[in-house]
Amino acid sequence: MKAPTFAELMNHPTVMRALEQAWGDSLPSDPAHRHEVGGWIYMNVATGEITVERAPSGTQAFLDLNNPPHLIGSIVVGIFHTHPNPTDEGWEPGPSETDRRTDALHGVPDLIRADNGVYVSGPDCREGGLQGGPGYP
Ligand SMILES: [Zn+2]
Repeated sequence: MKAPTFAELMNHPTVMRALEQAWGDSLPSDPAHRHEVGGWIYMNVATGEITVERAPSGTQAFLDLNNPPHLIGSIVVGIFHTHPNPTDEGWEPGPSETDRRTDALHGVPDLIRADNGVYVSGPDCREGGLQGGPGYP
């Protein structure tokens, strides 16, 4: 078994569903209430099953994904979050400077849903494969 790549995660039905749900819950069309939503993507190391845990909601341009809950038998293989602010108002849809820095630190792919598509930040797949602790590698 191998840790999934960004492309595998992006095309996984569970992840796709979580990403679209997060996008809707970010209220992108509500200027007063739009906020970042996201969470952690896990793989069960015995079965390969992919599951998703949502993090508490963030603010307009911030979300804290630093402390993934530990799921027994599973490791974090990715994270996801939304950038709900409109690109046509000048917001950057792709990874921010902070995203790049923290994603490099976390060592798992970060899928970012914006109004014009899905962006990636961080490594292509979990650094070190399936080795390491249940949280970030
Ligand atoms: Zn971000």
